[in-house]
Amino acid sequence: MSLTEIRDQIAKAEADAGRAAGSVSLIAVSKMQPDARVEAVLKEGHRVFGENRVQEAAGKWPRFRESYDGIELHIIGPLQTNKARQAMELAQAIHSVDRPKLANTLARLAQEIGHCPDLFIQVNTGEEPQKAGVLPAETDQFVAECRKLDLPVRGLMCIPPVEEEPTLHFALLARIAARNGLEGLSMGMSGDYVEAIRQGATHVRVGSAIFGARDSDM
Ligand SMILES: *Cc1c(COP(=O)(O)O)cnc(C)c1O
Repeated sequence: MSLTEIRDQIAKAEADAGRAAGSVSLIAVSKMQPDARVEAVLKEGHRVFGENRVQEAAGKWPRFRESYDGIELHIIGPLQTNKARQAMELAQAIHSVDRPKLANTLARLAQEIGHCPDLFIQVNTGEEPQKAGVLPAETDQFVAECRKLDLPVRGLMCIPPVEEEPTLHFALLARIAARNGLEGLSMGMSGDYVEAIRQGATHVRVGSAIFGARDSDM
C-alpha cells in the first residue's frame, strides 16, 4: 500500500470515529528495512518513524538526520536499562516502559540529562508469559509509581496476541488509560490500525504496510 493510501485510511477512520482530523499520529516502523525504502518515505515528506532496537536506530537515524529536518523517532521495542541513555538521546518517545527497574533508570537519567522523551507504558493485555509489559491488574499501580518519579507518562501501549481478535485488547487498553487520566494510546499495526483508531488509538505503529515485508519475515 502507498503512504498516501494509508494516510487516507487513517483520515477516514478518524472521521468515522468522530475524531479530529490529524489526531492520530502515524509512526512508520522502519526496523529491518533497507535504507532506500526508508529514504523514499522521507522523500515523500514523512517524518515520524519507529524502531525496535536502539542499536539499529543509532546506526541509521543520526545519518538521516543530517539530510532531513524534523525527524521524530519513537523507540517501540523492549528496552534494556543499559541502552536507556542512548535511547533517551536518540528518541522523542519510548513506548515500551514495562518495569520498575527501567522506570527508575529513566528517572535517574532524566535528572542527569535534563530532559526525557515522552513515555508510554506497555501493557501485556493478553497476559502472555513471553511478552513484555505490565499486567492489566498492575497497571494503575505502575502508572502511579512512574508519576511519583516525575516521568512524563503520555499513555499506554499494547501488542495484542497474534491469534486473537485485537478489538477487545484495544478496548481494554483504552479503559485502563481513561481511568488513569492518560490520553495517549499507542496501538494498531499494519493489520489492524483502522480498528485501533475506532477504539481510540492516538499513535498507530505501521511497518510492513508502508515499507513491504521485512527481511526477517521473508
Ligand atoms: C514491528 C512492530 C510494529 C509494526 O508491525 P507491522 O505489522 O509491520 O506493521 C509495530 N509495533 C511493534 C512493537 C513492532 O515491533
